[in-house]
Amino acid sequence: MYKAPRGTHDIYGQMALGLEKLDEISRKVFKRHNFKEVKTPIFEEAALFTRSIGEATDIVEKEMYLFEDRKGRKLALRPEGTASLVRAYIEHRFDMEDPVNKYFYCGDMFRYERPQAGRYRQFTQMGAEYFNNPNPTADAEIILLAADILSQLNIKEITIHLNSLGCSNCRPIFRQKLVEYFSSINDLCEDCKRRLEKNPLRLLDCKIDSSKFTNVPSMRQCLCDDCKNHFEQVQALLKGAGCNYVVDDKLVRGLDYYTRTVFEIRSSAVGSQDAICAGGRYDNLVKELGGQNIASVGFALGSERVLLAAEKTGFFDSIKKDNVIFIAVADEELVIPAFTFANNLITNKDNIIEKLNLPKDIIVEGPFLNKSLKSQFKLADKIGASKTIIFGKTEYDQGKILIKDMSTQEQVLINLH
Ligand code: ATP
Ligand code: MG
Repeated sequence: MYKAPRGTHDIYGQMALGLEKLDEISRKVFKRHNFKEVKTPIFEEAALFTRSIGEATDIVEKEMYLFEDRKGRKLALRPEGTASLVRAYIEHRFDMEDPVNKYFYCGDMFRYERPQAGRYRQFTQMGAEYFNNPNPTADAEIILLAADILSQLNIKEITIHLNSLGCSNCRPIFRQKLVEYFSSINDLCEDCKRRLEKNPLRLLDCKIDSSKFTNVPSMRQCLCDDCKNHFEQVQALLKGAGCNYVVDDKLVRGLDYYTRTVFEIRSSAVGSQDAICAGGRYDNLVKELGGQNIASVGFALGSERVLLAAEKTGFFDSIKKDNVIFIAVADEELVIPAFTFANNLITNKDNIIEKLNLPKDIIVEGPFLNKSLKSQFKLADKIGASKTIIFGKTEYDQGKILIKDMSTQEQVLINLH
């Protein structure tokens, strides 16, 4: 028997409803903040990711789904959204087209990881990118936008971790200090040993060794005046907006393109994979990928992890539907008028929904043939119908149908025409 590939999931039932609702709520929030949607392809030239994310990162070293197409082009399933959005930004000259460059995306990402709770090989991210704004207000808006989505979902047990990685002036000093610090530690894991020269910041993020690192040099102490100022202003803006955060010296993020502000939002409701959102500023990436010198900042939320956190706060209860209308036939002769009536409800013919005072976002089920009235009622109950509309011979002959309220069992006769 065939099974879904390791690390992938069929999304159905509650989870499908949950993702739909999450999508609906987050879209509303993105739009309210004036972010516009961009959809990019799910595969790109592999070099786009290698170049932007960085050679010495988990994603590029071991997690990318790489393949060649029939013409031998080297492609990759996208492991994240920022690189693709930057590519689209440059390709379509959004900087010339749009007075404000704020975009969002929702879509599937692919990483060859060891599957576990909250970690999959195909997963969904919702993200935002704010291009062409070097000011701390953009950093603060991006962080507040992510926090706003989580708060609309009622996710309260979150901590915003914040750090600054400096810029090309001050980071080399920090880097040097880190190399000296890590060189004095003997039992580094193989990954850390290998990365020490190439990308010493990544060691801080190591899942095996990071607990050994005490008294690590802090980037904050190395920040140049401009970066220090920027970081202070971001914090002042967040404080002004009433947003709580913690400054976390060890937060470095796994991707190479970040400059200055980085942040991660963790939820205590999720378990070991507690990072539900991550982002930061990337002032050099657009230029690096062939565009103008355009400073930008963004984030990505992992939808599945957000849903895991939302589940704890009754999110799934809030999407129970109370708008299912079941059409039952007491006499099989009436199946044609009942079927026509169901279709009229679905298409809202002559505003029948409003005329009968039914919910606008109605869901219609039935009629079924070859089922006793009793089993039709049972089915109506099982699917959680709020009302059952019954076509009975005596009533129909008088031009009427019965509407039964499934919770109070009350029945009212109404005119069919
Ligand atoms: P982690 O440290 O958990 O591996 P990351 O640094 O690789 O995360 P990012 O690349 O910044 O994560 O992605 C942003 C968000 O996407 C994460 O915070 C997480 O919620 C989600 N995410 C990342 N990888 C996965 C995955 N394999 N499965 C499900 N969600 C994921
Ligand atoms: Mg990862």
